[in-house]
Amino acid sequence: MASSAKLASFRLPPLPTIGEVIKLFNLRAEKQLSQNFLLDMKLTDKIVRKAGSLRGAHVCEVGPGPGGITRSILNAGAADLLVVEKDKRFIPGLQLLSEAAPGKVRIVHGDILTYNMDGVFPRNIAKPWEEDPPNLHIIGNLPFSVSTPLIIKWLENVANQTGPFAYGRTRLTLTFQKEVAERLTASTGSRQRSRLSIMAQYLCTVHSCFTIPGRAFIPKPEVDVGVVHFTPLVRPQIQQPFKLVEKVVRNVFQFRRKHCRKGIEMLFPEARRLELTETLMCEADVDPILRPTEITIPQFRALADAYAHLCAQEPNLLTYEFREELRLKRLGRLKGTSPGTLAGAPQLSL
Ligand code: SAM
Repeated sequence: MASSAKLASFRLPPLPTIGEVIKLFNLRAEKQLSQNFLLDMKLTDKIVRKAGSLRGAHVCEVGPGPGGITRSILNAGAADLLVVEKDKRFIPGLQLLSEAAPGKVRIVHGDILTYNMDGVFPRNIAKPWEEDPPNLHIIGNLPFSVSTPLIIKWLENVANQTGPFAYGRTRLTLTFQKEVAERLTASTGSRQRSRLSIMAQYLCTVHSCFTIPGRAFIPKPEVDVGVVHFTPLVRPQIQQPFKLVEKVVRNVFQFRRKHCRKGIEMLFPEARRLELTETLMCEADVDPILRPTEITIPQFRALADAYAHLCAQEPNLLTYEFREELRLKRLGRLKGTSPGTLAGAPQLSL
């Protein structure tokens, strides 16, 4: 076996620096694509160390760009590195790296938001959900406009054990705009507590690793950057479908400065709002005058369970969306008709 001793001691041969690669392949950062590069290998090594041991690991790096983090992943002893990069200008530079680490790097020119990870890693690395995480990591420094929708998509994948989580509790080490990183990790009662805090923390252990000042990137972005590590929980703290949890959390946070009761009311059609909110709050045993930011995850669990219970009794509730009702009402007013008479309007009243 070429095996562990060799893997552990693997170092990339001398290569042009990332700065030189950028010059060599004329990789000017595209401002409209929010490209900001990390050239300092101490920093890229530090990000990669936060993923944990990569010795012999399978890794997917999202948005490798000129390859700074890619080099650190290879130097950390990864055995198999799949990089997914949307901008084809970076492919030749990544091929250079692939040649320097023969048999270790697979390059995909694609969009990580739509890329299907089913079957891209060997099945035999999968671990049962209840066991330790598999030796598979996702690492990346993506533009913020991509990392936020991506984490929401991946959290839904965690809930359903699909995509990268079909292999078990795959760990993620990703960068976000500092404010988003703070929301992801915010504890109960803190100013940054938001929908994202609940959705991430009910499914994962979420750690804020460190902050990278904007000046460390070339070109310098407007904001600082937070590195966040996620490990999916063996047992999610809320045992309801992701979409149902997302709906409850979204409604509660709709009026973040008001009592939580106000947002919860919006889960129900106007005619039955008070009655059903009363039933839900009683069953969940959550104080209606708490602010959304003060609600703990066990309390969100109680709210989601009580809402699921009500929906089981009256399935129409599940499809009710207050904003949709509002939209139809406005439309009805514009057309001088009532929402119920609009052609194709969903049945909203119960
Ligand atoms: N990781 C590199 C670094 O740290 O220097 C580059 C960081 S730059 C902020 C983001 C990279 O992600 C760029 O190379 C960009 O082309 C790539 N990217 C942007 N959107 C992407 C997407 N949807 N799928 C894959 N790559 C993407």
